Amino acid sequence: MMSAPVRVRFAPSPTGPLHIGGVRTALYNYLFARKHGGTMILRIEDTDQNRFVPGAESYIVNSLAWCGLEFDESPEKGGPHAPYRQSERSDIYRDYIQKLITAGHAYYAFDTEDELNAMREAGKEKGGQTFQYDQQTRKTLQNSIALPEAEWKQLMDSGKPYVVRIKIPENEQVVVHDLIRGEVSVNTANLDDKVLFKSDGLPTYHLANVVDDYLMKITHVIRGEEWLPSAPLHVLLYRFFGWEGIMPKFAHLPLILKPDGNGKLSKRDGDRLGFPVFPTEWKDPKSGEIYSGYRESGYLPEAVINILAHLGWNPGTEQELFTTAELIQQFSLERVGKHGSKFDPEKAKWFNHQYMQRKSDAELSQLLQPYLDQHGVSPSAYYLGKVIHIIRERVFLVPDLWSTSWFFFIRPGQYDTQVYQKIWQPGTTGWITDFAREVEKLEEFNKDTLHAVAQEYTTRTGVKTGQLMNPLRLLMVGSNQGPGMMDLADVLGKEEFLERITTGLEALSR
Ligand code: GLU
Repeated sequence: MMSAPVRVRFAPSPTGPLHIGGVRTALYNYLFARKHGGTMILRIEDTDQNRFVPGAESYIVNSLAWCGLEFDESPEKGGPHAPYRQSERSDIYRDYIQKLITAGHAYYAFDTEDELNAMREAGKEKGGQTFQYDQQTRKTLQNSIALPEAEWKQLMDSGKPYVVRIKIPENEQVVVHDLIRGEVSVNTANLDDKVLFKSDGLPTYHLANVVDDYLMKITHVIRGEEWLPSAPLHVLLYRFFGWEGIMPKFAHLPLILKPDGNGKLSKRDGDRLGFPVFPTEWKDPKSGEIYSGYRESGYLPEAVINILAHLGWNPGTEQELFTTAELIQQFSLERVGKHGSKFDPEKAKWFNHQYMQRKSDAELSQLLQPYLDQHGVSPSAYYLGKVIHIIRERVFLVPDLWSTSWFFFIRPGQYDTQVYQKIWQPGTTGWITDFAREVEKLEEFNKDTLHAVAQEYTTRTGVKTGQLMNPLRLLMVGSNQGPGMMDLADVLGKEEFLERITTGLEALSR
């Protein structure tokens, strides 16, 4: 039998910004779809109005676009199965829930949230089993199974709010075939009668998810491990609808773990350990709090993709750096592990460093450009090229392009006093002045001729190289930072080199 063309979906709920775990789920779906020449769908699962956060949907769309993850069908792009926002599909779910009720696989339940909470509390107090709405308890509660028909119909007619719950069958074994975990088998005695349709006229995640995966002809459900416990319920729904034969294949991705200790990487770990947990910056619309993003912290999207590709998937070779095309070619669900992977912020920086090194001088110049504009400097392309060439190896994150190069464009306005006190000796000003006089005579100024002058000067006077170079660096940069002194001088050029000596000595003598 020919298998159906691959169709996968990323189905986030717009309840806040997308954590990098969510981006990884989107990425694995994307790689899988592209590898198999399939279709990648974005479906917004917004049926829980209580958890809706304004701005979250556009955040999700924009941050995935920044990562280079494109969808073939989405709320924005449309497609053959539009609408792709679940809140716009409520009529569809209404029809399907009706089918389940008619077939006796779902029932009306009238218990209020307060009543259910009271039972949960009572259960806790007794120290016994925690209360759940299931095949045992449903017999004693207010629903269309326990109550005589006339009675529940009257409740309904009187306008009492109700939900629709799944009727979990008794003593059946439900098997989920997971591409990553193998067979996961659960007895229905352990499942509860989850709400499928709420009193607000909208379905819950479980119903909407299954109906949409069916209608949108999804072939593979690739999602986070946290949904594995719901998978048996979903399998039952496919069975009840008569779709079990064409059910999508499941792949539940392992967790991304915090760098230290165990447990799932959370937003708080990022704050605590000083690294971003979100792809792009997020401003909480309620609290106004700002959470840092990879983009704003100076990561390249291709590095973020590569970092996430390795958190769960293993290429099976030593290769660490991949282009997206290589990832598409090599990705397979068989090489996704069962166990969680620890997020390593240092390794993330290292990855970014590697991708920065893969950029051409011209590309790095472009990334530096906004900083140059911000500081009102406009060097020639030639000068910029020389600077980039010298600093590029020291750059880990995009802002390093500026922090390691600014002194090529701007004279130091201050001189580090601690460095000054440490290196400046009684003879220093005189040595530098004499040395500068020798440099002035140079017809050709470059690192070799400068080096020769320094050599000649130190040999003749007995002044040590460090006694000359350290103060020179302070005069050029204002601190003890920066690349090799000769490279630095070479790029600055004779005029600027001598000018910085004069202005620097003047400032330090005050
Ligand atoms: N809406 C669910 C979420 O927020 C989707 C889970 C799934 O992919 O089935 O993660």
